[in-house]
Amino acid sequence: MSTPAVELVDVTKSFGAVTAVDHVDLRIDNGEFFSMLGPSGSGKTTVLRMIAGFEQPTSGRVMLDGSDVTDRAPFARDVNTVFQDYALFPHMDVLANVEYGLRVKKVPRAQRRERALAALESVQLGQYGSRRPTQLSGGQRQRVALARALVNRPTVLLLDEPLGALDLKLRREMQLELKQLQREVGITFVFVTHDQEEALTMSDRIAVFRDGRVEQVATPAELYENPSTAFVAGFVGTSNLLTGDAARTVIGREGTFSIRPEKVHLDSEVEAGFTSARGTVTDVVYLGSVNHYVVELDAGPTLTVLRQNLHGSTDQAMGRRGQDVTVGWADEHVIDLSGHTREPQHQPTE
Ligand code: ATP
Repeated sequence: MSTPAVELVDVTKSFGAVTAVDHVDLRIDNGEFFSMLGPSGSGKTTVLRMIAGFEQPTSGRVMLDGSDVTDRAPFARDVNTVFQDYALFPHMDVLANVEYGLRVKKVPRAQRRERALAALESVQLGQYGSRRPTQLSGGQRQRVALARALVNRPTVLLLDEPLGALDLKLRREMQLELKQLQREVGITFVFVTHDQEEALTMSDRIAVFRDGRVEQVATPAELYENPSTAFVAGFVGTSNLLTGDAARTVIGREGTFSIRPEKVHLDSEVEAGFTSARGTVTDVVYLGSVNHYVVELDAGPTLTVLRQNLHGSTDQAMGRRGQDVTVGWADEHVIDLSGHTREPQHQPTE
């Protein structure tokens, strides 16, 4: 196995009585786009800040490229951080902002300029060097912040909700750009987000955080198709949970099970050999490209069924409200969560 770019070994961080990070082990490979995903207060930012050196672990070690950096100051670590608020200098033009880190490192003027221009080109802002940050849009400011971090050619780039301030459309564009940029530069990206779609779009692997612990580390497809706990199943995508009596009646087994909404079929789509159940459509939610049918099963629980809106007729979909239906699914799409689900250790203080 090659040396990981970042490794956390049994890291805990307490702030007084709050355990923000609770015995976390992580290995992030060289060149990987790695996301830390979780609800507010689950410890993602604290982990990022410990990798950057802004925060000291209470116990455990932080390793970068095989070296123990736990006691090293932020500037003595080969990492750069991009923050949500960009933290650009308003009195400097864009080029001076990007050059700043190299000036501090006393890189000669000509080389500084060349590298800063190349970094601006890489984020498609080659023509914007003489503008002030206030003369840029939010997305352009975000790109400058990226260029300013990339110009130092760090081994690891840490990104703390960098797209959080952008509107949804721009955010989606930037997600694809960021992923492409990461492929081109080959730098390890460690990305913090609470947006599951964002994490699925960009990441090679994702660590799902809950209450300061890592619940599961996996590729986006593994996380979605094979979540190891009910929490992960519910946080990454929509999860239909069947447990207790409902599981016994519908699945025919003891345990806790999940079925994704797009894997549930309705009425005539239910094939021979599928597991099926009867229920009533209590609501239909129109979402443009898809409809969500909310089906209350006779056995108790409510399932969400997702169907693509292929025919453009909302009347037909809406007309199903109140109807009795059969739902069904192939056994291979039943995710068994039995035995993996833990109770929260403590509640976040926020
Ligand atoms: P968010 O998505 O809201 O940024 P997060 O998952 O990044 O959340 P953290 O910021 O790492 O979570 O916080 C984890 C826990 O540690 C929270 O309960 C938070 O209130 C607490 N915490 C973080 N920093 C400090 C601090 N400097 N002093 C006291 N408590 C803190």
